[in-house]
Amino acid sequence: MPNIRQQIISDLSRAPDESLFALDYDGTLAPIASRPEYGRPARGTLEVLTALASRGATIALVTGREAAALLRVSGLAKVPRLRVFALYGAQRWYEGETDSEPVADEWDQVRSFLSTIIRPSTGLWVEDKGPSLAVHARGVEGPSAALAELRPAIEAFVGPLGLEVHPGRAVVEIRLSEFDKGRVLHDLVGDVGASAVLVAGDDVGDLAAFRAARSFRSETRAMWTVGIASDEAPEVAQGADFSVGSPDELVALLAEIASATGRR
Ligand SMILES: [Mg+2]
Repeated sequence: MPNIRQQIISDLSRAPDESLFALDYDGTLAPIASRPEYGRPARGTLEVLTALASRGATIALVTGREAAALLRVSGLAKVPRLRVFALYGAQRWYEGETDSEPVADEWDQVRSFLSTIIRPSTGLWVEDKGPSLAVHARGVEGPSAALAELRPAIEAFVGPLGLEVHPGRAVVEIRLSEFDKGRVLHDLVGDVGASAVLVAGDDVGDLAAFRAARSFRSETRAMWTVGIASDEAPEVAQGADFSVGSPDELVALLAEIASATGRR
């Protein structure tokens, strides 16, 4: 897809202070790790995001993670004017300030319920992110089947509490129903007034942002979606305008945009 690649570079470097990069973290900027706390960014991520932001672009991390954990593991808080939309937008971080949805009592019930249906001996484990819980199956034999077996019981329990269950790569997430990456993108594009936007992701939760991106595309606004190819969620690369094979390749694309920005 060489022409699309050149078009993306051209559109995103044209007016840097009107460019927005809405980027997922795990699997997109950081190779998938065995545990979330090991998810370090691809080499050069901090440098390239800093270069783009220094030339005026807005950098937003749009993630299912909790903001403090993301910033700790990624080291990306130094990117100028970085915005973080954590927990699918239920938590927002900017310039060191965090603004979160209140944690409801329901989460205690969900936590207790999960502890009754998940046996640690299976290798499955629960990540507690405050107003979101994730059941991880990475490292478990047959992760999809293990999660598929649990999912109906989880849905039956959390549905009446007004919570939703969303699948991901070797994970099932339980989260607040009003939040997803499509809504984040919708709010961000309006807020930033961007004329060129690049949205990148690797998992099915990113498809909502891709759909929002398509709905914003117009004569005056370039919207590009970039999928990171994986065997675990092939529909993401297939559903994007352009795909790359790894976080390293995404960082290389961002570096080309930064260097084209510098030349203008
Ligand atoms: Mg991801």
